[in-house]
Amino acid sequence: MTCPHQRWGRRVFLGLLGIGLASAAAGCGTAPTGSDPGEPGSGVGGSARGGSGGPLGTGLQPRPIRPPRPVDRPHGVVELFGGPAASVPARQLALTVDDGFCDRCVAGYAAFAQRTGVHLTFSPNGRYASAWAPQAPVLRPLIEAGQVQLMNHTFTHPDLTKLAPAGIREELERNEKWIATTFGTSTRPYFRPPFGRRNLAVVETAGEVGFNRVVLWDGSYSDSELITPEFLMAQAHRYLQAGVIMLGHANHPTVLGLFDQILDVIRQRRLTPVTLDEMFHTQRPPVTS
Ligand SMILES: [Zn+2]
Repeated sequence: MTCPHQRWGRRVFLGLLGIGLASAAAGCGTAPTGSDPGEPGSGVGGSARGGSGGPLGTGLQPRPIRPPRPVDRPHGVVELFGGPAASVPARQLALTVDDGFCDRCVAGYAAFAQRTGVHLTFSPNGRYASAWAPQAPVLRPLIEAGQVQLMNHTFTHPDLTKLAPAGIREELERNEKWIATTFGTSTRPYFRPPFGRRNLAVVETAGEVGFNRVVLWDGSYSDSELITPEFLMAQAHRYLQAGVIMLGHANHPTVLGLFDQILDVIRQRRLTPVTLDEMFHTQRPPVTS
């Protein structure tokens, strides 16, 4: 079976949320609904769209772009694996950084953002508040300036497919409330399901509470677990491309010594790191919770 995301070669892969397509995708060898290659406790991997078998497997060759396809789902839910078509000629790159169970990794990323002015999106979990809260004085001004954005990644980082709707809502709203209190910003409408795990119940429940942009990724450092600097940079060279949503983690210190090298790759390729708001032309809603 051809994976839908491979067959369509889409950068913004809409329509997976239909039951039939979701089941088709689940049959892919490295399906986006499978274990998250970038998450704690998961195995190795690369792309949420199919690892080495996906469109990124050939390195830097341009990938086909098709315009977004409207999807008739409640709450306008869409899944995002990469940027819209216009993000490629604009050479935009969305760097996203999840979790944060390593204090000095969170501090290192915050300092990197402050020092370089690089735009990026963090996906912190409230369970790691002890790592994130000390960085609030650094991050709040960057958030207010639009350089840094926060998206929702749940409070305790569970597999949302194993929770009832009430539990899904609780995870998202508890994390939203913690982020609003700590950083003075809302995460709506963007959320990334832990491990990339979601089903129709997850995305519809999330959509009900204002999270209708399900952010996956099409490039990853695969650094949710401890990896070598050489491997991380190989992933960087492979995946840092125009139009990509790149997944990284503030979980292990390997990346801390590589920020300048990563920046060199971005500059050599004339890429412009952007937040999700910048990539998808959205704005932060007022804090309501
Ligand atoms: Zn995570």
